[in-house]
Amino acid sequence: MAYKLLIGGQLETSQNILPVVDPSTEQIFADSPIASRDQLDRAVLAAQQAFSAWKNTPLDERRARLVALAQAVDDRAEELSVLLTREQGKPLAEARGEVALGSMSLKAHAQLALPGHRIESPGSDVELQYVPLGVVGAIAPWNFPFTLMISKIAAALLTGNTVVAKPAPTTPLTTLLFGEIAGPLLPPGTLNVVSGNNDLGQWMTEHPDIRKISFTGSTPTGRKVMEGAAVWLKRLTLELGGNDAAIVLPGTSAREAARKIFSAAFLNAGQVCIAIKRLYVHASIYDEVCDELSILARSVVVGPGLEEGVQQGPLQNRAQFERVLELIEDARDKGDILAGGQIARSPGFFIQPTIIANIDPDARIVVEEQFGPVLPVLRYEDVDDVISQVNASAYGLGASIWGPDTAAARELANELDVGTVWINKHLDLRTNIPFAGAKQSGFGAERGTEGLAEYMQIRVVNS
Ligand code: NAD
Repeated sequence: MAYKLLIGGQLETSQNILPVVDPSTEQIFADSPIASRDQLDRAVLAAQQAFSAWKNTPLDERRARLVALAQAVDDRAEELSVLLTREQGKPLAEARGEVALGSMSLKAHAQLALPGHRIESPGSDVELQYVPLGVVGAIAPWNFPFTLMISKIAAALLTGNTVVAKPAPTTPLTTLLFGEIAGPLLPPGTLNVVSGNNDLGQWMTEHPDIRKISFTGSTPTGRKVMEGAAVWLKRLTLELGGNDAAIVLPGTSAREAARKIFSAAFLNAGQVCIAIKRLYVHASIYDEVCDELSILARSVVVGPGLEEGVQQGPLQNRAQFERVLELIEDARDKGDILAGGQIARSPGFFIQPTIIANIDPDARIVVEEQFGPVLPVLRYEDVDDVISQVNASAYGLGASIWGPDTAAARELANELDVGTVWINKHLDLRTNIPFAGAKQSGFGAERGTEGLAEYMQIRVVNS
């Protein structure tokens, strides 16, 4: 199948192509178009021209279009899921879950209330309006290429903006297929999809006619996006990297917590911005938790995502695979590898689920974002000390606290410098609950009415 760009309602090929590699075989299995600068300009122009009609389309009709898009995704769900596994690597069951989440995100966005209200002000009639910005550039990473992009598109379209969407170079296919599915269901130019290399993202951030960039990706790239957007004072939402900590308090059931923590650390081979990436366990249950985690790690079936029974797929690309191996090597003499620590099979970017205990708190695997199937486990005695260690990170995306006393856990939550604190759970994201990063994990929210406000600007009408 030939994957095409969507520009002004038309599917287009390009002069140059980018091979797409299946991370479980390291073989090229498809090509994606590399959009030229002219194609980007035409996509932005089409989105600009579609903006006026789209923002004036009654809200209920925009909601109905999102529901129709969700239905179209459901109708092609299996094809999208298999393609997602091939380009991203995740097990087919997880790919099906991601595609279903994309559809749910469209439906749930269709239900969200838009911001805006009247302000009480004696002698004046003051209306606080939120109006769409214009053309939104949506840039997504490769870990959840489908659902992260769909959420951006849903929020931007609901709020009356038009979109130019750019997937990551290594996972462009499900977004291109979505463009093909969505094109006939929207007025031409309302949604445009362009794929290419990183420079395409850079051109988007610098483009004078894109009014906002909604970016999800790494912190270093987030900085470049901010730099590029500075010239035009473009609006930005930056959802960046994380190094989420989980804190296990004394008295927690080691077995039950270990099971839930394990899935929140190893989902998608650990390639989740809000995966648990460092675990602090009270000394009283440290050994027990480490044992449980190691048993779980050894039981995981690692292999190609399309193979029956596989629970963990490969890392998505070679660069990430090599980076995670490097972090494991660095940790070898700074802690005890209780499980994993090796390449799981070859070819393919497979790494065994790895548990590292008694690790030096300054080791790279603790301080940096590993974004892979490796969990460092740290022992603590004093909870205040752990809070300081958690807050010492440059990142501040999420964190979780595990313990039998929810009130005590909520008290501790108030001390954490992060965007979301979960108690006795992790990874729980919903379309109606805003999600935002603190510190170098980014700024601006996505999801919820607060997230929609980021796709709009304030206009006060005061009479
Ligand atoms: P990345 O930063 O390398 O790439 C993300 C996207 O940015 C890609 O589409 C890429 O082509 C594009 N890009 C690259 N250079 C650019 C530039 N100069 N200007 C504009 N766009 C550019 O990230 P990645 O490696 O694809 O994804 C992994 C990272 O994403 C991790 O750090 C992870 O934590 C983060 N992430 C964050 C969230 C969140 O919601 N906070 C969610 C998922 C992933």
